[in-house]
Amino acid sequence: MDTLSLRVLPLGHLRCQYFRIVDGYDENVMYDSPVSALLIRHPTLGNVLYDTGNSPYHRREYGDDITRVYPVENFRSIEDALQSEGLTCEDIDMIILSHLHFDHVGGLRYFQNSKAIKNVVVSERELWNACRSVFTGEEGGAYVKSLFDVGGVIYRPIRDTTDLAPDLTLFIQEAHTPGVIGLAIKTQTMGQIIVTSDTVYTRETWEKSLPPGGPINKGTKEFLSNLDRLKQMQEQRHATMLFGHDNEQIAAWSKKGVIK
Ligand SMILES: [Zn+2]
Repeated sequence: MDTLSLRVLPLGHLRCQYFRIVDGYDENVMYDSPVSALLIRHPTLGNVLYDTGNSPYHRREYGDDITRVYPVENFRSIEDALQSEGLTCEDIDMIILSHLHFDHVGGLRYFQNSKAIKNVVVSERELWNACRSVFTGEEGGAYVKSLFDVGGVIYRPIRDTTDLAPDLTLFIQEAHTPGVIGLAIKTQTMGQIIVTSDTVYTRETWEKSLPPGGPINKGTKEFLSNLDRLKQMQEQRHATMLFGHDNEQIAAWSKKGVIK
């Protein structure tokens, strides 16, 4: 193995009103927002996991507001998803968390006794914001303490763009939350791929420059300036975009299997 490979792992859905994904829609329009993780198998870094999906205990752990607005459907654990790739949680060397919202950090506890729990990369501003949120109760309910305050976890905070390897770069986006980690990945067959996470939910978001509605996001100004930056990156790198919660794209890429 001398080049990296990439695999989208589908982890079920959050059933929600579509205006929370793309602003302007009628509140009766519903959407199955896909939850996913990425498995990157890398020649020097080992097995790198980007996000971990929902908690197996989402019903009792998420609280009433999240459960009402974003109920989990077709839950699939990260453990199951790794198993179908022939891996266990112990085989993961590093976890990168795009951000610390429930649908991205909820599976962290599966790694509690693994080497990966001591190597969890997150943006410093995000870690700070999540802690501030759960200890002050000031900011909505998308951060749940028990999901990211997992026994034995060691966070490796990053403050700025970080090259983990020549073909894998992390960059920090100040939209959706104060510090969402995006990925720039160089592949052999698809060229560069830019992974946005939740700063750009869907292709419609991207193509129409439409921010999400609802209260979960940091703000439209931040959304638009981050979108500008991503469009520049995409143009410079001729990159293919992978969005955070695009139902069609996650389904299609899950079917692609391993991308080299
Ligand atoms: Zn999300």
